[in-house]
Amino acid sequence: MDRITLKDRDFSLFIKAEDIEKAVSAMAEKINKDMEGKHPIFLVILSGAFVFAADLLRKIKTNCDITFVRLSSYSGTQSTEKIRELLGLNEVLKDRTVVILEDIIDTGHTMDDMIHRLRHLEAAEVKIATFLLKPAALRKDLKIHYVGMEIPNDFIVGYGLDYDGYGRNLPDIYKVIPEE
Ligand code: 5GP
Ligand code: MG
Repeated sequence: MDRITLKDRDFSLFIKAEDIEKAVSAMAEKINKDMEGKHPIFLVILSGAFVFAADLLRKIKTNCDITFVRLSSYSGTQSTEKIRELLGLNEVLKDRTVVILEDIIDTGHTMDDMIHRLRHLEAAEVKIATFLLKPAALRKDLKIHYVGMEIPNDFIVGYGLDYDGYGRNLPDIYKVIPEE
């Protein structure tokens, strides 16, 4: 379906599942190369990244640990700068190689906040892997090591990303059609 309605907004097909798959595979290949001989810990940022993480991690060949944290800043279609707290991190990160898995980096506030919270945990290295990046929206000076795809500054849903709870289950990615 090329056009869908979720709650009160219309969305059009933007990235097909087969193109998502290619981008995830390309990222997995890079990570596999970089992580050879290491034993990284993947830190999946819930909820949005769960679909991307499930796809990516099944392509990771190195021994690894996988853990989940929650750090959400979004309500409706506007990024708020109010960041809530980091929940669920029980793992020891000291001297570990940490790879953060995020669905999308928009302004970069969420990831910047995350990096600050991790700093005192003394990881050996922290790498950022985001499936999507909106370069035009980025406001923070972040070193992003792995990017699946760069996209324009539109609000999108699907592949784990939601619009007020709708659309996370969609295998393709859709973008919002602006209201007249
Ligand atoms: P940032 O802090 O970089 O502005 O936003 C990061 C978070 O906002 C992401 O983890 C994601 O949850 C949410 N977000 C950013 N852009 C979009 C978007 O286009 N669609 C959806 N559904 N969520 C987004
Ligand atoms: Mg997210």
